[in-house]
Amino acid sequence: MLEELKKLKDLQLLDSEAFRLEEELESLPEKNEALQQKISEMQSRLSELRNAISIQVEEKQKREEILHKGEDKLKVITGKQSAIRNKEEYNALLREIDNIKRFNRDLSDEIAEIDKEIEFKNNELKLIEEETESKINEFGKMIKDNEKRMTELDTNLEKMITKRDKLAENIRPAIYRKYQRILESSPNGKAIALAEDKVCTGCNMTLPPELFNMVLRATRIEVCPNCQCILVPSQKSEKPAQPQ
Ligand SMILES: [Zn+2]
Repeated sequence: MLEELKKLKDLQLLDSEAFRLEEELESLPEKNEALQQKISEMQSRLSELRNAISIQVEEKQKREEILHKGEDKLKVITGKQSAIRNKEEYNALLREIDNIKRFNRDLSDEIAEIDKEIEFKNNELKLIEEETESKINEFGKMIKDNEKRMTELDTNLEKMITKRDKLAENIRPAIYRKYQRILESSPNGKAIALAEDKVCTGCNMTLPPELFNMVLRATRIEVCPNCQCILVPSQKSEKPAQPQ
């Protein structure tokens, strides 16, 4: 039986490694999704800012067109001065000129205000672009690395499973089935624990002395009453009487 237990121990080594690789493999798609999400957020922040800028550029253009018309109007009206026949007409003309000038001045102020905002937003955009670009590149690279790692893990796991299946073929079916049952219900991929100094090293529980002796005798499969792992005598426990 001891031989069978040793084979289980080897099998457990492979299964633990496979468990570790599977956990890593399962965690990677989620990591990539989170990275992709961050990239999308950064990209939409950039496009929002670009949209806001282009809306303001449009607003500015609209006002500039109106201002041009206003300036033309002012020229036309100023040119009418020579046709004035009396003081009343003259006063009316001056008022109109004043009104147009005020209107144009207000527009110019608005345009300058929008200009300032555009400049401010452009600076902000530039900063965010610089910062975001390097992050997007970095995250993109991380995604690629993770994808590469997933392929690598797939290949390694496949090899490992072939190896462990070969090993499993040499284990007595009843024992293997028991091992497999425990492994499948284990949350951490463990079905084997070494028993050493009367302690189950899987869960650190002190084993009842009779049980520990049974484990040392290795005439049948014994499991830890606490963590349900198959107990295998550690090499130290195997030869307790032999001094080194
Ligand atoms: Zn245990």
